[in-house]
Amino acid sequence: MFRITLSSIGRPIRLTRALATHATEAQTAAPKTRHDWTKPEIQKIFESPLLDLVFRAAAVHRQNHDPSKIQLCTLMNIKTGGCTEDCSYCSQSSRYSTPTKASRLVDIEPVLEAARKAKENGSTRFCMGAAWRDMAGRKRGFEKILHMVREVRGMGMEVCTTLGMLSPEQARQLKEAGLTAYNHNLDTSREFYPKVITTRSYDDRLDTISAVRDAGISVCSGGILGLGESDEDRVGLIWEVSSMPEHPESFPVNALVPIEGTPLEGNDPVPYQTLLRTIATARIVLPKTIIRLAAGRQTLDESKQAMCFMAGANAVFTGEQMLTTPCSPWDEDKAMMERWGLEGMRSFEQVDVARKEGGCRHHEHHEHHEHHDAPHAEPRPTPITSTSSAQQAALL
Ligand code: SF4
Repeated sequence: MFRITLSSIGRPIRLTRALATHATEAQTAAPKTRHDWTKPEIQKIFESPLLDLVFRAAAVHRQNHDPSKIQLCTLMNIKTGGCTEDCSYCSQSSRYSTPTKASRLVDIEPVLEAARKAKENGSTRFCMGAAWRDMAGRKRGFEKILHMVREVRGMGMEVCTTLGMLSPEQARQLKEAGLTAYNHNLDTSREFYPKVITTRSYDDRLDTISAVRDAGISVCSGGILGLGESDEDRVGLIWEVSSMPEHPESFPVNALVPIEGTPLEGNDPVPYQTLLRTIATARIVLPKTIIRLAAGRQTLDESKQAMCFMAGANAVFTGEQMLTTPCSPWDEDKAMMERWGLEGMRSFEQVDVARKEGGCRHHEHHEHHEHHDAPHAEPRPTPITSTSSAQQAALL
């Protein structure tokens, strides 16, 4: 209720009316998730006046998510550089002369140590990235990674990997080991993709995503802005994932951080308004998906980040050491989130992730039994504690 006192006519009049803060049921009911979006429909959303777009996206976000929750994910590079692919934005390709030095697959214990530290600092998802085309001929390396997945999953964390192309059998083994999600970005539209990568096709990427989905693993797949693509390509990327049989569980939106020595080193940064438009459009078209504000977040001041959260972004990378570009440290993110009334999402809080976990009984003896009732439990804030500074992040 609010009251207005008018005294200009001699005696005060008290006007009282109810503010329309509660929408009708019809207005608040979440619309059905659609898989039949057309490109013109998405383009129209993308091109709508920016504040209208953000407002609409914020409403969709509130119908489908707790807007106070942000997923905190920590990324670790477990095998750096020396990759045979030619992704023109990537410092880890062996085809370009960049500051990134190639290394072998790291040992298991430092990975587990990093995961423990991430958990202590409030991250609920731990993602391990390896720079290579695929797992062919890497039997021992793959066994090692399966071991890492089992151990990190046993800590009660969501586990994600990004290991290049996967076969259905490898996806099955990762699922069996307890993998929660697999990252494999489409990067951009089908039309623009050949201008960015020539060593594997768009359909190769879609095949890996299908193998991951068919294995019951959550798909994390998004793109990069600032590759030289047009708005049509940004719309084309969102359209491509919207027409998958299941929308990706998570959609990373990266802003290119140009890296010296790569073909895209001279690219102009993507305008902030384009980043915001892409996030808001993705939120509307992919209402249940986690929208991940990924690489390039460092270039945004706090207010710009908050606007992205308003427009539906609800995941970030945070931590100490990521892949090849800067990342925000836990202590800074903790302070920022407190200022904006945000808190960390619990592990397995996202309904679709929890549903897929329900099919995996492999780790029941570990502490993650706490997650099986996650979608129904009262939300508990994830503690975020301070720690040291952070430096490197990734395109994910
Ligand atoms: S993005 Fe991945 S696949 Fe492409 S060059 Fe970099 S490490 Fe290799």
